[in-house]
Amino acid sequence: MSGTRPHDFDLFVIGGGSGGVRTARIAASHGAKVGIAEGRFWGGTCVNVGCVPKKLMVNAAEYGRWAQEAAAFGWSLGEASHDWGTLVRARDLEVNRISGIYKGMLGNVGVTTFDCNARFTGPHELLAGERPISADRILIAVGGHPVRPDIPGAEHALISDDMFTLKEMPRRVLMVGGGYIGLEFASMLHGLGAEVTLAYRQSLPLRGFDHELREAAAEALAADGLTILPGETPAEITLDGEARRVRMVGGKVVEADAVFFATGRTPNTRGLGLDAAGVVAREGGAIAVDDDHATNVPHIYALGDVTDRVNLTPVATAVGHALADTLFGNRPRHASYENVPKAVFTSPPMASVGLTEDEAAARGPAEIYTARFTPLRHTVTRNTGKRALMKLVVEAGSGRLLGAHMLGEDAPEIMQGMAVAVVNGLTKAQLDATIGIHPTAAEEFVTMRVPTRRVGDGVAKAA
Ligand code: NDP
Repeated sequence: MSGTRPHDFDLFVIGGGSGGVRTARIAASHGAKVGIAEGRFWGGTCVNVGCVPKKLMVNAAEYGRWAQEAAAFGWSLGEASHDWGTLVRARDLEVNRISGIYKGMLGNVGVTTFDCNARFTGPHELLAGERPISADRILIAVGGHPVRPDIPGAEHALISDDMFTLKEMPRRVLMVGGGYIGLEFASMLHGLGAEVTLAYRQSLPLRGFDHELREAAAEALAADGLTILPGETPAEITLDGEARRVRMVGGKVVEADAVFFATGRTPNTRGLGLDAAGVVAREGGAIAVDDDHATNVPHIYALGDVTDRVNLTPVATAVGHALADTLFGNRPRHASYENVPKAVFTSPPMASVGLTEDEAAARGPAEIYTARFTPLRHTVTRNTGKRALMKLVVEAGSGRLLGAHMLGEDAPEIMQGMAVAVVNGLTKAQLDATIGIHPTAAEEFVTMRVPTRRVGDGVAKAA
């Protein structure tokens, strides 16, 4: 233990989400004396109001789609209907089970848990609830929360947390935001039977993703039956009885039973007492950290959404694990923020790893391989909304894989394997030397032979 006097803990973690829990658990398993405070729910956003309940609801929506398509394969299932209450009960049971496991895992390795918020009173001092404690090192892993645009009537809209307390499914929904949450929630509610309008302010959803994938995603959502309003931003929301009337900046009016703002998230730094510790936050509240995840105060660290870098659960857990190994396991290492695979669980879903076509072209000559096709199953269902797009971005000359992108069923499952290839700098020739598994969509990634186009010399050219 460093410092001039012994502290209550070697490490105190503020925030019991994915990143904080992983760090606490691994640090304790290395022999550190660890405390952790969580004031809302163990497992944080991902387990309680994010990835886990969302994915279960996406699964529920997919059953509806399968039920509709089953007739093409000879099934008669009668009139499909969905009971929201059954889904909510099953979802909440699983969420509570996982949240309990998170807390249980901490107890199993001797971490002291505090069911309350903690805030700094000094550089090594905190109040966990009302209890004063001190720690040699402190980790800020408090995550973030959804934000609402500052427009008149914003209070009449819901945010993503509210999805998980809704007692009934709204019949007509306006989803605002073209990011991960906007698309996933819109697609999921549509699959469960709601009439969904998705409005986003850009011409395409998912800024930052590969352009062609973004186009294919917008097409797929429209083909699935959602109403898409590109280039639209709400200006005002008013109540009309139980309904919401949303006036867009350009004058268009949308009526809905529920309006969701899926317009981004902001770090949870308010009330943390950062000033008392001397920790400086960036404009917007995110905490700046160096390559070792330390804040401007060297013994205070931060990770996950509160740092607003790559705001994904597996990134926070990877960083936390590496930090605990470095500080307490005598195994200094860094988790990489490069080539983080990502997925959006729409129907069909999409997933990406590595550089987009435009990013690769900006760096130098690249070859682009694409396949656009109807998966075998949908040659029978004739569901045109389920066409797949698969794409490889390859460095010209070296043949190194720079990126892989897919829209289509099982894209997130397939991309996990492709991420191994991209992260490890495998070449297109090594993919070509791999035998495909037939008949699958995944085999396309090892059987694309001729580039669709070459880019990166300033002009995109067809091959
Ligand atoms: P995103 O940052 O992904 O998207 C926010 C969307 O809201 C963008 O389309 C943005 O437009 C738009 N927007 C922002 N401000 C306004 C405004 N004032 N008026 C209208 N539109 C606005 O945020 P999300 O809330 O969807 O998700 C938060 C984060 O959670 C994600 O970035 C991701 O890190 C994580 N997440 C990951 C998931 C996954 O891995 N599958 C699932 C869900 C969340 P513009 O592009 O123009 O800025």
